[in-house]
Amino acid sequence: HSGFVAIIGRPNVGKSTLMNFMIGQKVAIMSDKPQTTRNRIHGVLTREEGQIIFMDTPGIHKPKHKLGEQMVRTAIDTLNGVEAVLFIVDATMPKGAGDEYIIEILKKVKDTPVYLLINKVDIVEKNTLLGIISSYKDDYPFAEIIPISAKTGDNVDRLVDNLMDRL
Ligand code: GDP
Ligand code: MG
Repeated sequence: HSGFVAIIGRPNVGKSTLMNFMIGQKVAIMSDKPQTTRNRIHGVLTREEGQIIFMDTPGIHKPKHKLGEQMVRTAIDTLNGVEAVLFIVDATMPKGAGDEYIIEILKKVKDTPVYLLINKVDIVEKNTLLGIISSYKDDYPFAEIIPISAKTGDNVDRLVDNLMDRL
């Protein structure tokens, strides 16, 4: 049970917080600068049953110029080359253009299972959460849809167990 897992999502959804929670270290902080796919921050989670190398990937955003387009191609290549993708969305915000753009990128990725993680469940009402889930669930054939809190760790163990089983 081991492999590479990419973490994607628009800014501020909780990518770094989740990776830090899972690996228990503050290593992803530097990754918030836009367009730094070249400096992807990796975090390693080691358990008795296996090892997961997480990649916090800030490079997926609407390209504004040529360099951006190259970055997007790099991002697609990255997502094709990993064992699973964690697509994080923010349960406190409606689906926006940034989320839709990432879904379009995911549609160009072949055969990599994509987990939809609805983050920040610690601060949303249940009905809001259900509304967010239904707004995404038909957009893409997600391998799993898991509501989590990267901050409190709610459901994060379940996520890691599920990933370990898949790898
Ligand atoms: P990133 O840009 O996707 O890496 O997002 P960050 O991990 O930097 O998080 C952005 C903000 O959301 C920070 O202020 C976090 O503390 C906050 N945040 C992240 N996850 C959660 C969560 O599960 N619950 C709450 N309440 N806040 C969160
Ligand atoms: Mg970050």
